[in-house]
Amino acid sequence: MESVINSGAAGEAISAKKAEKIAYENNKLHKRLCRLVGQAIGDFNMIEDGDKVMVCLSGGKDSYGLLDILLTLRERAPIHFDIVAVNLDQKQPNFPEHVLPEYLARIGVPFHIENQDTYSIVKRVIPEGKTTCSLCSRLRRGILYRVADELGATKIALGHHRDDILETFFLNMFFGAKVKGMPPKLQSDDGKHMVIRPLAYVKEADMERYAEVKQFPIIPCDLCGSQENLQRKQIKAMLREWEKKFPGRVENIFSALSTVVPSHLMDRKLFGFADLKLTGEIMVDGDIAFDEEPCAPPSATIMRFGDLAD
Ligand code: SF4
Repeated sequence: MESVINSGAAGEAISAKKAEKIAYENNKLHKRLCRLVGQAIGDFNMIEDGDKVMVCLSGGKDSYGLLDILLTLRERAPIHFDIVAVNLDQKQPNFPEHVLPEYLARIGVPFHIENQDTYSIVKRVIPEGKTTCSLCSRLRRGILYRVADELGATKIALGHHRDDILETFFLNMFFGAKVKGMPPKLQSDDGKHMVIRPLAYVKEADMERYAEVKQFPIIPCDLCGSQENLQRKQIKAMLREWEKKFPGRVENIFSALSTVVPSHLMDRKLFGFADLKLTGEIMVDGDIAFDEEPCAPPSATIMRFGDLAD
């Protein structure tokens, strides 16, 4: 009997320790998310004093996480800003319309549900078997801009994260022949709205874990019946493979997006190659004929002309 009691106590101690470790990890994740979101907001001046931020909520893990982190940061921010959550109910079959209002009422966030049957429009206009996403997102964008005006929102916050940005970058390069990503802050195409992406520095894996920790009532994203974009899927797989095989590579690509050297690319609109004249002065970013290989071993690095002086 005694041994049973003892082993029961030991088991309790182990599970208490495990629970403590899980709580510690969860807390670390929350802190990291707050730090990265705060950093992105600061770096790009996304939110200013007096802003009304309209958080677009789809019912997916990313938008729930975005709203949750923004609410935490608002409590700590030295500035005042308001948050309003908006969901566009596109009338997709089986969309559980009670989930978001119940959740938002429970956490006490002002919200607006916009009911617009874009699903029927898309189904009517796009032939069976063709991709519906482009028209669907165009319609959605127009509606969200109008709602932002009606609510007096000064910023529209979207839940795109680091992985979305990287995937878009490669999609544009592979299929659109452009060096173009998904910016953390941009003006809408009508020039009247400011769109922000406060999750720009956050990894998708962290958002997945955070959604599990917080037990968000996720609404499935395949209700419209559209196939997931195959090209995006392939890029995602490529990035995951790189992340596994070459640790640090994806991080480096992401950092490269904020370290662009126009004089070392070929876009004549970004750099005045035609007017380039010799200055006779040392240029920090000037060409050294052969740039150092970033990952070459020290013995293989190419000497700069400066190394040859005296
Ligand atoms: S997946 Fe469905 S809801 Fe999402 S953009 Fe495409 S058509 Fe619209």
